[in-house]
Amino acid sequence: MFPAVLFERLDDNKVKCNLCNHHCIIPLGKRGICGVRENQGGHLFSLVYGKIIAENVDPIEKKPLYHFLPGSLSYSIATVGCNLQCSFCQNYEISQYPRLFEGEIPGKRRSPEDIVQGAKITGCKSISYTYTEPTIFFEFALDTAKLAASQGLKNVFVSNGYMTKEAVDLIKSYLHGINVDLKSFRESFYQKICKAKLSPVLETLKYLKRCGIWVEITTLIIPGENDDPSELREMARFIKNELGAETPWHLSRFFPRFRMLDKPITPLETLQKAYYIGKEEGLYYIYIGNVPGNETEHTYCPKCQGLVIKREGFFIVENKLDADGACPFCGYRLEGVWR
Ligand code: SF4
Repeated sequence: MFPAVLFERLDDNKVKCNLCNHHCIIPLGKRGICGVRENQGGHLFSLVYGKIIAENVDPIEKKPLYHFLPGSLSYSIATVGCNLQCSFCQNYEISQYPRLFEGEIPGKRRSPEDIVQGAKITGCKSISYTYTEPTIFFEFALDTAKLAASQGLKNVFVSNGYMTKEAVDLIKSYLHGINVDLKSFRESFYQKICKAKLSPVLETLKYLKRCGIWVEITTLIIPGENDDPSELREMARFIKNELGAETPWHLSRFFPRFRMLDKPITPLETLQKAYYIGKEEGLYYIYIGNVPGNETEHTYCPKCQGLVIKREGFFIVENKLDADGACPFCGYRLEGVWR
């Protein structure tokens, strides 16, 4: 057990966790909604510090982050647990593990030094805190991110965006990029399908942007749940008006998973419609994901429309940008983290 950050002590030995927007009030001996933070003796502890359930070397494009050191490798780690309970979760075996297996928390013992060392010897340029929600293993992510940054590595979260501003404040100096799932633009979707709320995600997104962290958005489009054109248009408008037209929007194809087995795979036509809605609203960079070989997996210059990064799935076939992200055809500096 590792002492948790961002909690308050309350009467009757209860604690209030302020790491994510559930703000769980946890009685003595109990855990928060994420299932990996426990009140022991009136103090909050992380049960997953250094208990790594997944550890892989991935292309950064897999996160997906398309404007962040393209073509580089990212050392990717996770613990079990999640603060959301999305019925379509693509990684439910690990994200929901404590819920599915009576609170059990498996994982291999690793230190921040082990992770940084692993990243360096495998030639990774960054560490990704991913697969499950990094907020719930925040203490380990923070210690690792500090060490990684001191050794010239970058840090990336792949997140549901449910962390609080206080959590962002703790890590913002070490966090260089984040991909946030914007799962829907309807409160009812978040409440029914994810057991969470939409509005804190929108606030956190705006705050991440204000903090100068590179942000990309992913929306998994589920037939009949969040594919209504008016909802997609509202989402695209939010991204443009609140986060900026330069914020990449990844439109991802849904495959039936976990408790959502009754929905079909997203038709390509739906993804294309969403793509054109985003374009009509003025977003510069829109990518259709989980559909290999489509022409929207490449990056085009928003000024001259020249093809500047050519991809095949998660792999870069050609990158014509210079070290500062400038287009070779017109000189426009594309937005992103390029070095
Ligand atoms: S991190 Fe876990 S314990 Fe803390 S508020 Fe979120 S769900 Fe509750």
